[in-house]
Amino acid sequence: MTETELMLTSLLNCRRLDLYRDSLSLTPSQAQTLKAMRSRRAAGEPLQYILGETDFMGYPIRVNSAVLIPRPETEILVTQTQQAMQKIFPLDDTMHIIDVGTGSGCIAIALAKLIPSCRITAIDVSLEALACARENALLNAVERQINFQEMDMDIFFNQSHAVAKTFQVIIANPPYIPTAKIADLPAEVRQEPWAALDGGIDGIRFYRALLAGARLRLTSPGLLALEFGDGQERQIADLVSENGHYKNCQFLLDYTQTPRVALIYR
Ligand code: GLN
Repeated sequence: MTETELMLTSLLNCRRLDLYRDSLSLTPSQAQTLKAMRSRRAAGEPLQYILGETDFMGYPIRVNSAVLIPRPETEILVTQTQQAMQKIFPLDDTMHIIDVGTGSGCIAIALAKLIPSCRITAIDVSLEALACARENALLNAVERQINFQEMDMDIFFNQSHAVAKTFQVIIANPPYIPTAKIADLPAEVRQEPWAALDGGIDGIRFYRALLAGARLRLTSPGLLALEFGDGQERQIADLVSENGHYKNCQFLLDYTQTPRVALIYR
Protein backbone atom coordinates (compact mmCIF):
# COMPACT_ATOMS: atom_id res chain seq x y z
CA MET A 1 0.00 0.00 0.00
CA THR A 2 1.15 3.55 -0.60
CA GLU A 3 1.46 5.87 2.38
CA THR A 4 -1.73 7.69 1.39
CA GLU A 5 -3.57 4.38 1.15
CA LEU A 6 -2.28 3.46 4.60
CA MET A 7 -3.46 6.79 5.99
CA LEU A 8 -6.87 6.39 4.37
CA THR A 9 -7.43 2.79 5.46
CA SER A 10 -6.45 3.81 8.98
CA LEU A 11 -8.66 6.90 8.92
CA LEU A 12 -11.69 5.14 7.47
CA ASN A 13 -11.02 1.85 9.21
CA CYS A 14 -11.42 -0.04 5.95
CA ARG A 15 -9.48 -2.29 3.57
CA ARG A 16 -7.46 -1.06 0.60
CA LEU A 17 -10.08 -2.51 -1.74
CA ASP A 18 -12.79 -0.34 -0.17
CA LEU A 19 -10.87 2.80 -1.13
CA TYR A 20 -11.59 2.14 -4.79
CA ARG A 21 -15.35 1.78 -4.57
CA ASP A 22 -17.26 4.50 -6.40
CA SER A 23 -19.09 5.51 -3.27
CA LEU A 24 -15.97 6.50 -1.33
CA SER A 25 -15.99 10.08 -0.23
CA LEU A 26 -14.50 11.86 2.75
CA THR A 27 -16.44 13.99 5.18
CA PRO A 28 -14.97 17.47 5.66
CA SER A 29 -13.51 16.41 9.01
CA GLN A 30 -11.94 13.27 7.49
CA ALA A 31 -10.47 15.37 4.70
CA GLN A 32 -9.08 17.72 7.33
CA THR A 33 -7.53 14.82 9.27
CA LEU A 34 -5.96 13.41 6.11
CA LYS A 35 -4.47 16.80 5.36
CA ALA A 36 -3.04 17.01 8.87
CA MET A 37 -1.59 13.48 8.53
CA ARG A 38 0.07 14.42 5.27
CA SER A 39 1.62 17.55 6.63
CA ARG A 40 3.00 15.69 9.68
CA ARG A 41 4.50 13.18 7.26
CA ALA A 42 5.91 15.97 5.07
CA ALA A 43 7.55 17.37 8.21
CA GLY A 44 9.39 14.05 8.57
CA GLU A 45 7.40 12.33 11.31
CA PRO A 46 7.57 8.51 11.09
CA LEU A 47 4.48 7.09 9.38
CA GLN A 48 3.84 4.67 12.24
CA TYR A 49 3.44 7.53 14.75
CA ILE A 50 0.98 9.24 12.42
CA LEU A 51 -1.05 6.06 11.92
CA GLY A 52 -0.74 5.34 15.64
CA GLU A 53 -0.32 1.64 15.02
CA THR A 54 2.01 -0.87 13.44
CA ASP A 55 2.25 -4.60 13.04
CA PHE A 56 4.63 -6.84 14.96
CA MET A 57 4.58 -10.52 14.04
CA GLY A 58 0.99 -10.11 12.89
CA TYR A 59 -0.12 -8.46 16.14
CA PRO A 60 -1.37 -4.86 16.18
CA ILE A 61 0.86 -2.62 18.29
CA ARG A 62 -0.14 0.97 19.08
CA VAL A 63 2.76 3.39 18.98
CA ASN A 64 3.41 7.02 19.85
CA SER A 65 6.47 9.21 20.23
CA ALA A 66 7.12 7.79 23.73
CA VAL A 67 8.11 4.39 22.33
CA LEU A 68 10.52 2.93 19.81
CA ILE A 69 8.75 1.75 16.66
CA PRO A 70 8.97 -2.08 16.60
CA ARG A 71 11.40 -3.29 13.94
CA PRO A 72 11.26 -6.45 11.79
CA GLU A 73 14.66 -7.49 13.19
CA THR A 74 13.10 -7.75 16.63
CA GLU A 75 10.75 -10.39 15.23
CA ILE A 76 13.85 -12.52 14.70
CA LEU A 77 14.80 -12.02 18.36
CA VAL A 78 11.35 -13.21 19.45
CA THR A 79 11.13 -16.18 17.06
CA GLN A 80 14.62 -17.42 17.86
CA THR A 81 14.02 -17.03 21.58
CA GLN A 82 10.84 -19.07 21.37
CA GLN A 83 12.63 -21.81 19.42
CA ALA A 84 15.56 -21.89 21.85
CA MET A 85 13.14 -22.11 24.78
CA GLN A 86 11.46 -25.14 23.23
CA LYS A 87 14.85 -26.85 23.10
CA ILE A 88 16.12 -26.09 26.60
CA PHE A 89 13.06 -26.15 28.84
CA PRO A 90 10.60 -29.00 29.50
CA LEU A 91 7.30 -28.45 27.68
CA ASP A 92 5.05 -28.35 30.72
CA ASP A 93 7.08 -25.86 32.76
CA THR A 94 5.49 -22.49 33.43
CA MET A 95 8.21 -20.18 32.27
CA HIS A 96 8.95 -16.79 33.73
CA ILE A 97 10.31 -14.30 31.29
CA ILE A 98 11.42 -10.72 31.84
CA ASP A 99 11.41 -8.20 28.99
CA VAL A 100 13.83 -5.43 29.93
CA GLY A 101 13.00 -2.04 28.38
CA THR A 102 9.65 -3.15 27.04
CA GLY A 103 8.84 0.11 25.19
CA SER A 104 5.66 -0.53 23.19
CA GLY A 105 5.51 -4.00 24.78
CA CYS A 106 5.92 -5.70 21.39
CA ILE A 107 8.34 -8.39 22.61
CA ALA A 108 6.37 -9.26 25.75
CA ILE A 109 3.08 -9.33 23.85
CA ALA A 110 4.35 -11.53 21.03
CA LEU A 111 5.89 -13.98 23.50
CA ALA A 112 2.69 -14.07 25.54
CA LYS A 113 0.76 -14.88 22.38
CA LEU A 114 3.22 -17.53 21.21
CA ILE A 115 3.63 -19.21 24.63
CA PRO A 116 0.25 -18.96 26.39
CA SER A 117 1.55 -20.73 29.52
CA CYS A 118 4.36 -18.27 30.20
CA ARG A 119 4.32 -15.41 32.70
CA ILE A 120 6.07 -12.23 31.75
CA THR A 121 7.40 -9.28 33.71
CA ALA A 122 7.91 -6.26 31.49
CA ILE A 123 9.88 -3.32 32.84
CA ASP A 124 10.63 0.14 31.54
CA VAL A 125 11.83 3.41 33.04
CA SER A 126 9.27 5.41 31.09
CA LEU A 127 5.75 5.66 32.50
CA GLU A 128 4.50 6.86 29.11
CA ALA A 129 5.98 3.79 27.43
CA LEU A 130 4.40 1.52 30.05
CA ALA A 131 1.00 3.13 29.43
CA CYS A 132 1.39 2.33 25.75
CA ALA A 133 2.57 -1.23 26.48
CA ARG A 134 -0.40 -1.84 28.81
CA GLU A 135 -2.78 -0.62 26.13
CA ASN A 136 -1.16 -3.04 23.68
CA ALA A 137 -1.49 -5.94 26.09
CA LEU A 138 -5.22 -5.20 26.39
CA LEU A 139 -5.56 -4.80 22.63
CA ASN A 140 -4.04 -8.25 22.17
CA ALA A 141 -5.84 -9.80 25.15
CA VAL A 142 -2.68 -10.88 26.99
CA GLU A 143 -2.91 -8.46 29.92
CA ARG A 144 -3.32 -11.31 32.41
CA GLN A 145 -0.01 -12.86 31.38
CA ILE A 146 2.09 -9.71 31.69
CA ASN A 147 3.02 -7.77 34.78
CA PHE A 148 4.21 -4.27 33.83
CA GLN A 149 6.50 -2.42 36.20
CA GLU A 150 8.14 0.97 36.14
CA MET A 151 11.74 0.13 36.86
CA ASP A 152 15.26 0.98 35.86
CA MET A 153 17.31 -1.97 34.67
CA ASP A 154 20.13 -1.23 37.13
CA ILE A 155 17.67 -1.17 40.02
CA PHE A 156 16.12 -4.40 38.85
CA PHE A 157 19.48 -6.15 38.85
CA ASN A 158 20.70 -4.56 42.06
CA GLN A 159 17.76 -5.78 44.07
CA SER A 160 18.72 -9.33 43.13
CA HIS A 161 19.75 -10.27 46.66
CA ALA A 162 16.60 -8.93 48.27
CA VAL A 163 14.23 -10.47 45.73
CA ALA A 164 14.65 -14.16 45.22
CA LYS A 165 12.56 -14.35 42.08
CA THR A 166 14.40 -15.69 39.10
CA PHE A 167 13.61 -16.02 35.44
CA GLN A 168 14.18 -18.72 32.85
CA VAL A 169 14.52 -16.10 30.16
CA ILE A 170 15.72 -12.50 30.13
CA ILE A 171 15.04 -10.81 26.80
CA ALA A 172 15.91 -7.28 25.68
CA ASN A 173 16.36 -5.05 22.70
CA PRO A 174 18.27 -2.41 24.61
CA PRO A 175 19.31 1.01 23.32
CA TYR A 176 22.54 0.37 21.43
CA ILE A 177 23.55 3.45 19.49
CA PRO A 178 26.81 5.03 20.76
CA THR A 179 25.85 8.50 22.08
CA ALA A 180 28.06 10.37 19.60
CA LYS A 181 26.50 8.53 16.65
CA ILE A 182 22.90 9.48 17.41
CA ALA A 183 23.36 12.76 15.55
CA ASP A 184 24.23 10.77 12.37
CA LEU A 185 21.00 8.74 12.42
CA PRO A 186 18.35 9.51 9.78
CA ALA A 187 16.11 12.42 10.88
CA GLU A 188 13.12 10.11 11.19
CA VAL A 189 14.88 7.78 13.60
CA ARG A 190 15.94 10.80 15.68
CA GLN A 191 12.25 11.45 16.36
CA GLU A 192 12.12 8.24 18.38
CA PRO A 193 12.79 8.54 22.13
CA TRP A 194 16.42 9.35 22.89
CA ALA A 195 16.34 6.96 25.85
CA ALA A 196 15.35 4.11 23.53
CA LEU A 197 18.37 4.73 21.28
CA ASP A 198 21.25 5.88 23.48
CA GLY A 199 23.55 3.00 24.41
CA GLY A 200 26.13 5.15 26.19
CA ILE A 201 29.61 6.19 25.06
CA ASP A 202 30.54 2.81 23.55
CA GLY A 203 26.97 1.73 22.71
CA ILE A 204 27.15 -1.35 24.94
CA ARG A 205 26.46 0.05 28.39
CA PHE A 206 23.22 -1.92 28.69
CA TYR A 207 24.79 -5.20 27.55
CA ARG A 208 27.40 -4.88 30.29
CA ALA A 209 24.64 -4.40 32.87
CA LEU A 210 22.48 -7.17 31.39
CA LEU A 211 25.29 -9.72 31.37
CA ALA A 212 26.39 -8.86 34.90
CA GLY A 213 22.84 -8.79 36.25
CA ALA A 214 21.39 -11.75 34.38
CA ARG A 215 23.72 -14.23 36.00
CA LEU A 216 22.08 -13.38 39.34
CA ARG A 217 18.53 -13.48 38.05
CA LEU A 218 18.57 -16.34 35.54
CA THR A 219 17.80 -19.93 36.43
CA SER A 220 20.24 -22.57 35.26
CA PRO A 221 19.61 -23.55 32.54
CA GLY A 222 18.56 -20.09 31.51
CA LEU A 223 18.61 -17.91 28.45
CA LEU A 224 19.63 -14.30 27.92
CA ALA A 225 18.36 -13.22 24.50
CA LEU A 226 19.57 -9.88 23.16
CA GLU A 227 19.26 -7.85 20.02
CA PHE A 228 22.27 -5.66 19.21
CA GLY A 229 23.47 -3.07 16.71
CA ASP A 230 25.52 -3.21 13.54
CA GLY A 231 29.06 -4.39 14.17
CA GLN A 232 28.59 -5.03 17.90
CA GLU A 233 28.99 -8.81 17.69
CA ARG A 234 32.70 -8.75 18.71
CA GLN A 235 32.02 -6.46 21.69
CA ILE A 236 29.19 -8.71 22.90
CA ALA A 237 31.30 -11.85 22.46
CA ASP A 238 34.11 -10.23 24.49
CA LEU A 239 31.70 -9.19 27.24
CA VAL A 240 30.35 -12.76 27.43
CA SER A 241 33.80 -14.29 27.74
CA GLU A 242 35.04 -11.64 30.21
CA ASN A 243 31.97 -12.29 32.33
CA GLY A 244 32.80 -15.98 32.45
CA HIS A 245 29.46 -17.16 33.84
CA TYR A 246 27.79 -18.32 30.65
CA LYS A 247 28.04 -21.70 28.92
CA ASN A 248 27.94 -20.39 25.39
CA CYS A 249 26.80 -17.63 23.09
CA GLN A 250 25.20 -18.09 19.71
CA PHE A 251 24.90 -15.29 17.14
CA LEU A 252 22.07 -15.16 14.61
CA LEU A 253 21.76 -13.12 11.45
CA ASP A 254 19.02 -10.74 10.37
CA TYR A 255 17.39 -10.42 6.93
CA THR A 256 20.46 -8.65 5.54
CA GLN A 257 22.80 -11.37 6.84
CA THR A 258 24.08 -9.03 9.56
CA PRO A 259 24.64 -10.50 13.05
CA ARG A 260 21.72 -9.13 15.08
CA VAL A 261 20.71 -11.48 17.89
CA ALA A 262 22.74 -13.12 20.66
CA LEU A 263 21.40 -16.15 22.50
CA ILE A 264 23.50 -16.50 25.63
CA TYR A 265 23.05 -19.68 27.66
CA ARG A 266 23.62 -20.10 31.34
N1 GLN B 1 11.47 -3.58 23.52
C1 GLN B 1 11.03 -2.56 22.62
C2 GLN B 1 11.30 -2.98 21.19
O1 GLN B 1 11.99 -3.90 20.94
C3 GLN B 1 11.73 -1.23 22.93
C4 GLN B 1 13.22 -1.27 22.77
C5 GLN B 1 13.90 0.05 23.06
O2 GLN B 1 13.24 1.03 23.41
N2 GLN B 1 15.19 0.09 22.87
O3 GLN B 1 10.82 -2.40 20.25
